[in-house]
Amino acid sequence: MKIRKGKNINAELIEKLSNNKGCPLCSAIIDFEFDQFSKLQYEITHNEEIRRQIAMDGGFCDFHFRQFKKIANGKTNILLLKAIVHSEVYKQKKFSIKCRICESINEYEEKLLRTFMDYLFDNKARMNFQMSNGICFVHLNLLNKFKDFNEILEWLHKVHVEQIKKMQTDFDDMSQYKSFYEIAPEKRMLINILIEKLAGRKTGGL
Ligand SMILES: [Zn+2]
Ligand SMILES: [Zn+2]
Repeated sequence: MKIRKGKNINAELIEKLSNNKGCPLCSAIIDFEFDQFSKLQYEITHNEEIRRQIAMDGGFCDFHFRQFKKIANGKTNILLLKAIVHSEVYKQKKFSIKCRICESINEYEEKLLRTFMDYLFDNKARMNFQMSNGICFVHLNLLNKFKDFNEILEWLHKVHVEQIKKMQTDFDDMSQYKSFYEIAPEKRMLINILIEKLAGRKTGGL
């Protein structure tokens, strides 16, 4: 399994922006998340101490447990669940899971949001972004906390609405086809792009 190392966050963002497949921030997080899974599945299988620590956390949150189940093999899943049962962590009255994948994603996402905000300071970058499919609602809302950049935020909200509105013709056209497979693949891709734009990265793997 490939683990991409040390890729500069700025270069990562530029690459995702130029792909213009869905939300570039979601896309960077999905890759980061995948790397985390790759490392964790190795460590859970081979490193007893890490396995014990994750067991003491209670495993992962709902979403990441399900993702992990899909990515890791059956034996690794059993090893982890066995370790959780053995840890007896579930006997605590106020047992609740502390998901380390969520924690590291939140940290990464924070850096990503700042990098994206910096990127939008450039006029040419803003023009390119305006032409793209843009970001998702989840990330648009997360960016609202950068109150010092009110002007850029207002612009971003306006562009966000335009980006969805311009898909209207495409969806009108697509709705006329009898079979989904008669639709050109690049148009069909808009289905996933719009779902992600509305609902964020957890719609991935569609
Ligand atoms: Zn997003
Ligand atoms: Zn999680």
